Amino acid sequence: MKLQALGPEANRVIRLSNSADIFVAGGGPAGLAVAIAARQVGFRVIVADYQQPPIDKACGEGLMPEGVEALHQLGVYIPLAVSRPFQGIRFIGAEHRVDARFPSGHGVAVRRTALHSLLLDRAAKLGVEFRWRTRVTALNANGVLAGGKLIQAKWIVGADGSASMIRRLAGLDRWIFNSRRFGFRRHFRVAPWSDYTEVYWGKGCQAYVTPVSPQEVSVAVLSRDPWLRVNHIVEQIPELGSRLQGAEATAMERGAISGNSALWRIYRGRVLLAGDASGTVDAITGDGLSIAVRQALALSSALKAGDLSSYAAANRRLAMRPLVMSSLLLSLDRYPWLRKRVLRALAGDPELFQGLLALHAGSRAAPSYVCRRMLPLTLQLFKSSIS
Ligand SMILES: Cc1cc2nc3c(=O)[nH]c(=O)nc-3n(C[C@H](O)[C@H](O)[C@H](O)COP(=O)(O)OP(=O)(O)OC[C@H]3O[C@@H](n4cnc5c(N)ncnc54)[C@H](O)[C@@H]3O)c2cc1C
Repeated sequence: MKLQALGPEANRVIRLSNSADIFVAGGGPAGLAVAIAARQVGFRVIVADYQQPPIDKACGEGLMPEGVEALHQLGVYIPLAVSRPFQGIRFIGAEHRVDARFPSGHGVAVRRTALHSLLLDRAAKLGVEFRWRTRVTALNANGVLAGGKLIQAKWIVGADGSASMIRRLAGLDRWIFNSRRFGFRRHFRVAPWSDYTEVYWGKGCQAYVTPVSPQEVSVAVLSRDPWLRVNHIVEQIPELGSRLQGAEATAMERGAISGNSALWRIYRGRVLLAGDASGTVDAITGDGLSIAVRQALALSSALKAGDLSSYAAANRRLAMRPLVMSSLLLSLDRYPWLRKRVLRALAGDPELFQGLLALHAGSRAAPSYVCRRMLPLTLQLFKSSIS
């Protein structure tokens, strides 16, 4: 009687399936995006995560325009009530600053918990089944062990983050490269002062500020030092310090590993990897979420077509441009003299910065223009480095 009163919700709780077409380990942004994309093409999907929604994580919380567009393809629209658009990127060095607008569209800044709730809503509406507080601990020939129970699945997607257990269990833990930095994030109650995401360049670190609501900014810091926290970096960069002076920190500080990494293989047998489990791009690119959403679309099409190699190719292609861009940016992090000269050169040629951002944001028109302008800049930097 009581159960009847609870209606279909209760039935759903009682009738947990023990099989699906696709089992997704990890219900973060990548896992939920995969689940949505797979449901959209008709697969039955179960997602398990050892955490409880809405799941938070250290993140700069900026979605690049391509990521926003990909979310629309999943039927996920981020309302203005929980987000803030940003129009481009601004680099701020000790002596020089330069900014550029996205060639088309805009980025969206949204708290991770809000993004998680939106993805979850969409996935639930499409009929994805969830197992929260459920850790995936083993793979076997028929499926996975999740929360101590066997769930059978034709396909298993490891979307369990950069320290993926599925990757290890499937024997896919072989790296082409794997670099590490450390990221921390804090929110401050202060009216955003810019509609750009600002990247402040400090000594061996970057702080990037994203306006996440009309009264709040998210500050993410990145460095090679695991002990460097948001406050240390804010103190080191006077302009940012004065912006945040007296602003209340609104949530606890969170940390996570960032970096560039790529695997030799991202699938084996019935197991495929997605999101950070399949390789990462340094957070300085602001691209991890966008890549994860776009991978999800590629993965569902590949499974539908029964062609896993097309997913591997798409996964590699999606990571390539951000990896190149982050390698360039990380060389500015590593060599202060280079950073100073590049920021000065870009400040003197804002069109070039505009071209680089267009390239980073996926514009096809940008490359030849950037190559034409980058060559003299590279030569000039080379000459000044040896003189
Ligand atoms: C400091 C920092 C700033 C960043 N800023 C940006 C930014 O501004 N824009 C952007 O696009 N990207 C940014 N990124 C990158 C972005 O956060 C990641 O790319 C994104 O979180 C990847 O999502 P994911 O779902 O693959 O992994 P995660 O978000 O790590 O999710 C993995 C999920 O798997 C679950 N899980 C793990 N193991 C198991 C298990 N055994 N069983 C069940 N569940 C499991 C975890 O609980 C978690 O919920 C940033 C990253 C860092 C570190």
